Amino acid sequence: MLVMMHANASAEEVLAVCRKIEEMGFKAHPIPGSLRTAIGITGNRGPVEATGIESMPGVAECVPVSKPYKLALREVKESTTIVDLGEGVRVGGPEIAVVAGPCAVEGRDQAFAIAAAVRAGGACLFRGGAFKPRTSPYSFQGLEEEGLRILREVRERFGLKIVTEAVDLAGLDLVERYADVIQIGARNMQNFSLLKRAGRAGKPILLKRGISATLDELLMAAEYILSEGNLNVILCERGIRTFADHTRNTLDLSVVPAVQRLSHLPIIVDPSHGTGKREKVIPLSRAAIAVGADGLMVEVHHRPEEALSDGYQSIVPSDFTRLMEQVRQIAAVVGRRVGPA
Ligand code: PEP
Ligand code: MN
Repeated sequence: MLVMMHANASAEEVLAVCRKIEEMGFKAHPIPGSLRTAIGITGNRGPVEATGIESMPGVAECVPVSKPYKLALREVKESTTIVDLGEGVRVGGPEIAVVAGPCAVEGRDQAFAIAAAVRAGGACLFRGGAFKPRTSPYSFQGLEEEGLRILREVRERFGLKIVTEAVDLAGLDLVERYADVIQIGARNMQNFSLLKRAGRAGKPILLKRGISATLDELLMAAEYILSEGNLNVILCERGIRTFADHTRNTLDLSVVPAVQRLSHLPIIVDPSHGTGKREKVIPLSRAAIAVGADGLMVEVHHRPEEALSDGYQSIVPSDFTRLMEQVRQIAAVVGRRVGPA
């Protein structure tokens, strides 16, 4: 359990709570923060009884930390983690970060055409898989290192930060050299050796929620990365498998406030994989921003009918421009703006 003191609690009040905890047979760990002091409790085998502490002077609330994720927990930090990618691009701050680009890098011309369009529309990060986790082994698997080289050119030419997926350990070594953000895909959310390696990477990680992962499982996956020392983790809701058959996946927007309640990690929403249908991407982008997401990840293709993967859920550049106009309006309603300014 964590005892959260009021911002104006006195040193004596903190001390009195510590004494009370010690009297109960546990160890108290006062942790001063910039706003208020939290007191951690260890030495307990089961849950600590809050009654008796809760009503003490200076105590704001008692938060149970029976949660197995300790570092991802909201209580550890007063404010949301801001993943700073440089040049004003941040995820988790007051600004909304938009990642846009094709499902897969298919070639230089394709990547450049889409990058130019999404840059003009206001995206600050470019997505595109060089390694694709495909359901069928006969589907396009990605251009691999050639794709990464194209992404590096996109960064230089268009000033966009690069988000691209690593599907295995060997791929992560390579992706780490080229990407600004390393994506761990839904199918790998519980690939624990890959998560541990991501935790030792020198780049931020975009962790997508598994197709049937609960919120606890998502945060435990993040904990694997955090526990290895990489504190720059961005979560991504990308839809889960349900009985609904009007969409590819069910975009679980209610996970956004649920994550924000439990964790200090930023969370973005991917309405492209989250719905699997082009016409649902704009409405659910609006909804994602309204619900409080820190950003969006959207698949854009200039010729979706020719796309080598996920064409049916990719929006065209003119739709992306429209999406951004609408997202800017919604962002203003919730007191945010699309970044960087
Ligand atoms: C992707 O973003 O390209 C992707 C494969 O997504 P997911 O892992 O969410 O299916
Ligand atoms: Mn895709």
